[in-house]
Amino acid sequence: MKTTAEFRARAEAALAALGVDHDAWCVDDGAVRARSPLTGEELCGVRTHTAAEVADAVAAASEAFLTWREVPAPVRGALVKRLGELIGEHKEDLAALVTIEAGKIHTEALGEVQEMIDICDFAVGLSRQLYGRTMPSERVGHRLQETWQPLGVVGVISAFNFPVAVWSWNTAIALVCGDPVVWKPSELTPLCALGCDALLRRAMAEVGAPEGLHAVVIGDRAIGEALVDDPRVALVSATGSTRMGREVGPRVAARFGRSLLELGGNNAVIVTPSANLDQAVSSIVFGAAGTAGQRCTSTRRLLVHESVADEVVGRVARAFESLQAGDPFADGVLLGPLVNEAAFDAMQASLEKARAQGGEVVSGGERADVDADGFWVRPALVRMPAQEGVVLTETFAPILYVLTWSDFDEAIALHNAVPQGLSSGLFSNDVLEAERYLGASGADTGIANVNAGTSGAEIGGAFGGEKETGGGRESGSDAWRAYMRRATNTINYSGSVQLAQGVDFG
Ligand code: NAD
Repeated sequence: MKTTAEFRARAEAALAALGVDHDAWCVDDGAVRARSPLTGEELCGVRTHTAAEVADAVAAASEAFLTWREVPAPVRGALVKRLGELIGEHKEDLAALVTIEAGKIHTEALGEVQEMIDICDFAVGLSRQLYGRTMPSERVGHRLQETWQPLGVVGVISAFNFPVAVWSWNTAIALVCGDPVVWKPSELTPLCALGCDALLRRAMAEVGAPEGLHAVVIGDRAIGEALVDDPRVALVSATGSTRMGREVGPRVAARFGRSLLELGGNNAVIVTPSANLDQAVSSIVFGAAGTAGQRCTSTRRLLVHESVADEVVGRVARAFESLQAGDPFADGVLLGPLVNEAAFDAMQASLEKARAQGGEVVSGGERADVDADGFWVRPALVRMPAQEGVVLTETFAPILYVLTWSDFDEAIALHNAVPQGLSSGLFSNDVLEAERYLGASGADTGIANVNAGTSGAEIGGAFGGEKETGGGRESGSDAWRAYMRRATNTINYSGSVQLAQGVDFG
């Protein structure tokens, strides 16, 4: 494993290449401290904002909105096109920051940056397709239509585990929709945020976008709260834990703002007797152990038919044990560290609860043998007697609880009997089972897959989930509508006044 000094040097080189003013941002007395989970040590202090500075950023964004909303959407798309190009040119730099600050293995970090490029492409196309409908009017000589207009300042609050992609999902779409963005990234990944901000500023300067169109505000939850409470922020798009969403949602609602919540998951894979087990096992292993179980879409529950349970559990356990832990930059390493000690403690506490509930740890759960001070763990596979207690919660670490079933209705019921509703995967070659699972009384998650695992969504679909996952949708499909104001327009070209519903008012 490289030393903290070597990772710091790589991060500084990446920041310089991305155009971050190092001396302005990396300051000794910064309250937010950038750290690397790879060594558990500090990289640098980062200039941290005050609530008053958040208000200034929102004021500047509100001013920029007045200009930006008048720019034709396809011209706004040119800014996002340039941003996507710059991200492509700096893919390695951004991915290096993601690996150093979030601990993601390099191929996943590159994949995360690829998502940024993909969403920019999507948004550029979208900039010519912000369609409204026309509806038949019931009145002679009238036309009824809807138009979609820019909404206003979007406040983005993001989590540590997707430190660059979540920003891009929101920002690429918000910008083509005509909205400025003020971004409060996770306090665990400030350097990733500075890199993104610098690239967008370059693109803004090149296309002549208004000052204030984008700002990053660094700080802890208090800085997030300043965004949440500011009535000039029309939409708060917040990604993080259900605890955070429970605080943010009501506060935004209390001022009649709009919120888009992307919160925790407790995602399950169902394996049926007809499943291709090779396919199922490899998807389960990536879903549960990938990103060290630190994806909102990580597979946390394995609901397996009793006839294939022993075989599937045995194969997943062997696969877990064969995963190489170590330097996430190294070829062949598939397990990076947990983000910090608190995450490790939370994992151990959950395993303790699982044992107290009668769970049997079949494999893993302990610290992995890696020559570094970060918190690497072996993914845990735990057979549970019942779906209760700790199994109903999201622990942001690689723990896969196993439950068995004998009847498909029981599998669906187990699947849905958790408070969260993000992502889900069914492995079955039985078309009737697949259709039931996708139907009205099937999986109740925002993402439901057949013969595909719970994590690794593409940007083309709408992303998000139900229940305690928050109900928000971002990224592809028609998720853009959350970033715009819908207006219903009646145009009367009849030359006379006709009231709807035949009302006669003299
Ligand atoms: P977190 O909730 O601790 O923090 C997320 C962000 O919210 C941070 O920027 C934090 O500073 C801010 N924040 C926290 N409390 C706040 C408050 N009261 N007001 C305003 N801002 C506040 O989450 P985390 O540990 O960074 O990330 C892990 C969690 O995020 C997991 O639960 C995971 O499932 C979830 N997540 C969800 C999605 C999704 O799309 N559904 C994606 C990624 C992560």
